[in-house]
Amino acid sequence: MTNTFAPDTNPKIGSKSFPYFSKKSHITVIGAGAFGGWTSLYLLRKGFNVTLIDAWGAGNSRSSSGDETRVIRSTYGANETYFDLNVRALELWKENEKRFSTRLFHNCGVLWLCYHEKTALVDDSIPFARKHAMMYELLSKDELQKRYPIVNTDDLHHGYFDPYGGYLKAREATQAVQGAFVREGGTYIQAKVSPSQCVGGRMHSIQLSNGETCRGDAFIFACGSWLGSLFPDVLGNVITCSKQEVYYFGVPSGNSGRYENFPVWIDVDGQNFYYGIAGNANRGFKVGVDIRGEAFDPSTGDHTLNPQVLEKARVFLTHRFPELKDAPLLESRVCPYENSPDGNFLFNSHPDAANVFFLGGGSGHGFKHGPALGELIADVLTGNRTVPEIFCHHF
Ligand SMILES: Cc1cc2nc3c(=O)[nH]c(=O)nc-3n(C[C@H](O)[C@H](O)[C@H](O)COP(=O)(O)OP(=O)(O)OC[C@H]3O[C@@H](n4cnc5c(N)ncnc54)[C@H](O)[C@@H]3O)c2cc1C
Repeated sequence: MTNTFAPDTNPKIGSKSFPYFSKKSHITVIGAGAFGGWTSLYLLRKGFNVTLIDAWGAGNSRSSSGDETRVIRSTYGANETYFDLNVRALELWKENEKRFSTRLFHNCGVLWLCYHEKTALVDDSIPFARKHAMMYELLSKDELQKRYPIVNTDDLHHGYFDPYGGYLKAREATQAVQGAFVREGGTYIQAKVSPSQCVGGRMHSIQLSNGETCRGDAFIFACGSWLGSLFPDVLGNVITCSKQEVYYFGVPSGNSGRYENFPVWIDVDGQNFYYGIAGNANRGFKVGVDIRGEAFDPSTGDHTLNPQVLEKARVFLTHRFPELKDAPLLESRVCPYENSPDGNFLFNSHPDAANVFFLGGGSGHGFKHGPALGELIADVLTGNRTVPEIFCHHF
């Protein structure tokens, strides 16, 4: 894949139809991250009998969904599937945060920092923005500097401001979804799951680390970076895990207000794709490194920073935001990317069991789509919608 920001629009795969299930069927979802949590909630709201199981709990520190914040943006270059999915996700985030009585979406906008006159990543999304009446604001270099004086614009050509995006409280949202799932009647179990053998084209049960066996009509494995090791024969080469780092830097005390109101920013340099969240729920100015890190084991991997990656990020920070030259590092996080081969999400059934589904491949951009993806999967399993072809990786 090229990068997190624009997954492949045309992987060589075909569409696939899936069996659907009658209401009251028992569906077990394994993994309470952004994908599994929202999917279990929407399945429950459709009338299914749903059990959600997680080894370490929703939004745990090993999971991809366990960081403080995540960017939400519709812009995906020429990839209309994700633009449309995110438009629905925005609606559902707003609707659900009201239901949860918690503010999860911070609509501070997204600022794209563009180096060249043409920036396909943003320009190719403009027709979709027009379709949804969600137009970006084009800012000349001068306007960019005037409006955002903390940005060094020397090497930039222009900026685009997307007023509809912003950031989400990630861990808090993941736990809020799990809480809502239980309040609305779902069963949650904290245990590690091992899949059982597939017999006669089905998986009849799964084994839990507490010694119990869980039976069900269907099993959805939404295990993020663990999917590859859980199903090595099928997914070992499909879902791979890389070590990613994010840093929270301290902003100057006298000027903290202007950082708080600064939009999410994405530096479209075409290589590192640094991005960040200035307000970041008061935790410090967040800098994310999108370039793929080393291979990582999400269970046993140590969350110690790579000093070289940090040093490079500091050089970038000093260049782009000179006022933060000596900003102290307040907090940092190592998070696993659950990479699919082409950056697209994965939804497909097990080749040996029609009632076992894989849901994952967030590839560093999945969090924001959680509610829209969960709604989509619930619709697919009731036979009311089809899965976008780009999600149906063939094994
Ligand atoms: C550094 C970083 C920055 C990112 N930035 C963004 C961003 O700005 N915007 C965005 O939209 N997305 C972003 N993402 C991607 C996003 O966070 C992920 O795509 C999303 O959180 C994936 O959710 P998930 O549910 O698939 O996986 P996870 O959140 O990892 O959840 C998987 C769950 O499965 C459980 N599990 C695993 N194995 C088992 C088992 N055997 N039994 C029981 N439970 C099990 C785990 O405990 C875990 O809770 C970023 C990711 C990273 C790492």
